[in-house]
Amino acid sequence: MTYAAGNEPIHIASRWQRLSRHFTDAFSGEFAYRRRAYDAERLDALIEKRQRDAYRYILLLLSAVLVPVTAHNLYAGFPLPSAAGLLLTGVVIANIGLLSRNREAFLTPPLVMVMSMALVVLLMITGQAYSLYWLYPLLVALPVLLRVRWSLWVGIACGFVVVPLVFAQFQPLMATVISISMVLTWLVSAWLVFAVSEQSRRLRDMAITDPLTGAFNRRYFELQANQVRESWLRSSRPATLLLIDIDFFKRINDRFGHAQGDAAIKGLVAVISGRIRSVDTLYRFGGEEFVVLLSDTDLEAGVKVAEVLRSLVNEAAILPKGNMTVSIGVCDVSGADGLDHWLKLADGALYLAKRSGRNRVEVAVPEGVSHEAIAKSVPDWR
Ligand code: GH3
Ligand code: MG
Ligand code: MG
Repeated sequence: MTYAAGNEPIHIASRWQRLSRHFTDAFSGEFAYRRRAYDAERLDALIEKRQRDAYRYILLLLSAVLVPVTAHNLYAGFPLPSAAGLLLTGVVIANIGLLSRNREAFLTPPLVMVMSMALVVLLMITGQAYSLYWLYPLLVALPVLLRVRWSLWVGIACGFVVVPLVFAQFQPLMATVISISMVLTWLVSAWLVFAVSEQSRRLRDMAITDPLTGAFNRRYFELQANQVRESWLRSSRPATLLLIDIDFFKRINDRFGHAQGDAAIKGLVAVISGRIRSVDTLYRFGGEEFVVLLSDTDLEAGVKVAEVLRSLVNEAAILPKGNMTVSIGVCDVSGADGLDHWLKLADGALYLAKRSGRNRVEVAVPEGVSHEAIAKSVPDWR
């Protein structure tokens, strides 16, 4: 720890700490969005870089195995295994070089695995029975590198080749023990990879959904809305945003109680998600405010959807007694300068709907027309 001029301690990460953080980050690329949900393009680049880093680490580990094996074969004068080892080592090192320069590797992970296992089989066939033990780290790496399903097929194919070889070279009892221990090695690794990816999936779901309703949350909205805006800017794919707010929700809470209010929020989510298409997404934006992002939908079609949703909610039996209504502000992506601006325009339309009597759909007012006067004339409805 050192001290800057203002006596503030500055923590300087040691080389080891930086390496260990880099290694951990490389194998947890999918969590990148949690910190950078607002920046879709940089996020994609970051995840891609982390995948490349993870692959580079695995290739480095592989070369640590390949170099001594190949050196031994060269020293012992086995021409075929030496040539195969040199070829694979060269290819692996070339790929490490490419990945280090942030370029695509020309050798995909399944090919690396198949080639490495083929080399081990070749070594065994040429009489180097001990090289069988190189299969263990490869069997551990298999599910890490290929994901469970692919590694299952490569593992089975490898088993069909290796098991007869093992039985040909060892006594039956020993061959059986070796075969079973190999299957167990693969199974434990596959199970661990499966458990970790399942855990990540659950954490990811938790990070992007709202616990009360199961709708997506605001953080995920920012990520998706930015991507939708990118699609509009790049390829003019339309999209429309509906900002939905429940009318007089405070009264609903006062009349039926908070628990019933929560049930009404869930009921609204059920009504909306039962109607929108699978490509559209519903987000809980705040307490009783929601956003629906309609992809490939222009303003005219978006207004129709908003009108359908409004009347569906009006007719649905969401409350124990009486109707619940919503007001909706509609705005398409074409007039928005950015995500904040898009939301501001939709919010303006929502103000208008509230001011015009609620249980209504209003479209965002075009640029240049201010909502200042409207906002001031209406008591804060939030
Ligand atoms: P308006 O028609 O102008 O929208 O009137 P409103 O009463 O709905 O006003 P507003 O939109 O400001 O409502 C916000 C209220 O929603 C405040 C809070 O009591 C209630 N609320 C927010 N989140 C929750 C929640 O998770 N559960 C329940 N039961 N109530 C909530
Ligand atoms: Mg409200
Ligand atoms: Mg509100």
